[in-house]
Amino acid sequence: MRHTLYLKFIIGYVIFGLFSFLAVSLFVPRITREYVINQRAQSLYSEASLIADTYAKGLYSSRTSLETVTLQLDSLSVYMDADIRIISPDGIIILDTASSDPDTAVVIPNFDPSSGGSSYYLVGNFFGSFDEEVLSVICPIITKYRTKGYVTIHISMGEIEAQCNSLLNISYITLIIMFLLSLIILIFFTILVYIPLRKITKGAESFADGNYHYEVNVDSRDEMGYLAAALNYMSGKIADSEDDQKKFIANVSHDFRSPLTSIKGYLEAMLDGTIPPEMHEKYLGIVLNETERLTKLTNGLLALNNLNTKGMHLDITDFDINDTVRKVAETFEGTCRKKSIAIELVLTGEELYVHADKGRIEQIIYNLTDNAVKFSNHDSVIKIETTEKKNKIYVSVKDNGIGIPPEDISMIFNRFYKSDASRGKDKKGTGLGLSIVKEILNAHSENINVISTPGEGSEFIFSLQPSDPDEI
Ligand code: ADP
Repeated sequence: MRHTLYLKFIIGYVIFGLFSFLAVSLFVPRITREYVINQRAQSLYSEASLIADTYAKGLYSSRTSLETVTLQLDSLSVYMDADIRIISPDGIIILDTASSDPDTAVVIPNFDPSSGGSSYYLVGNFFGSFDEEVLSVICPIITKYRTKGYVTIHISMGEIEAQCNSLLNISYITLIIMFLLSLIILIFFTILVYIPLRKITKGAESFADGNYHYEVNVDSRDEMGYLAAALNYMSGKIADSEDDQKKFIANVSHDFRSPLTSIKGYLEAMLDGTIPPEMHEKYLGIVLNETERLTKLTNGLLALNNLNTKGMHLDITDFDINDTVRKVAETFEGTCRKKSIAIELVLTGEELYVHADKGRIEQIIYNLTDNAVKFSNHDSVIKIETTEKKNKIYVSVKDNGIGIPPEDISMIFNRFYKSDASRGKDKKGTGLGLSIVKEILNAHSENINVISTPGEGSEFIFSLQPSDPDEI
């Protein structure tokens, strides 16, 4: 593609050059010749009519002798580089500045002053009286309303052709200069379009080959620059998502492999007798625990897959968030009792209506409370609070547990992230709970914040849209 585009442009350029040259060489010489002849004929005619009115008239009125007129016209013809004649109506040359023998009367047999028609000049050998082509003008000498004769002036066509050629040369030189100057367009095209396009094509080929880290290097602030930036952005995004996918698969495989390895290990040990039958119950309990972890992991993955942000379908309704908090807290009663943990509810008002997807918000509160319970120490308190501030509703889940190290806080919402500190307390964790929370809140265009001090506890606060009081 890239070769042909450039080639097409060059061919177009050469065709443009050829056509310009053809047009100039076909039409310009004719127009120039006509123009030069016209100009010369006009000036010769005004000279001729001047001569007819002055010297020639004097000749016919016998005020001036033929010798004097001949002398005057001779010097004029030298000055004009032309042949001047005075011819009688019947074609006798009375005076000829080019004649070497003025006494011999020469007759032009076919002399016909009206043969030029409306044109006031003639091109040719002037009724056979010249050996070469000449440009001639004929002007009548009129005295007392009668034509006494004619003044004719002749100049060689060779001289006119030379003048035409020098004018034509100027046209050709101008054409060549224009053609060379138009090369600038070609240079601009090469720099502004062709080279960037080549880089972009090369980049696109690299991306097609799977090399998403290739950078298209076009910095211009025009459409080419924007196209290159868009391509770089696109490839960057694809590279990121590919990296994410790789990480995701590595994490999933890892998280599936460890429980499967331990299940396989215990079952084999039970089968080959390494674990005696009386211990089976204990180890089957462990196997069951591991399968629960696998179930949890699978469910988490399915939930995340269903959420898949932008396309997530939300079933938005107005519901009482206080009621949802109460119900979620109740489900943790059993677990809390085992760890002697108390859940304290600090709810604003009896009812507090929000505008959101009830099921998903319930899942958020569940995941946050689940973490709070998991990472709390025995005999501690978990506080779940609902508040209304600046036209927003906030739900906070606060525990007095192990806390999160500051360097981990930015990562806890990533898929599969589990901080080292948490591993001791939560062996079944999948690292998916908070990423599910984040995805749901993103879909609601809401935020979540974490305040945590290691060893003291953590607080997760998320915002919700209050419902419009008129609609409840
Ligand atoms: P998991 O299902 O493993 O708990 P999450 O995505 O819910 O995964 O949490 C990710 C990590 O964030 C946890 O492994 C833990 O390290 C940290 N974390 C989350 N909540 C708390 C909390 N309340 N206290 C301390 N650490 C927490």
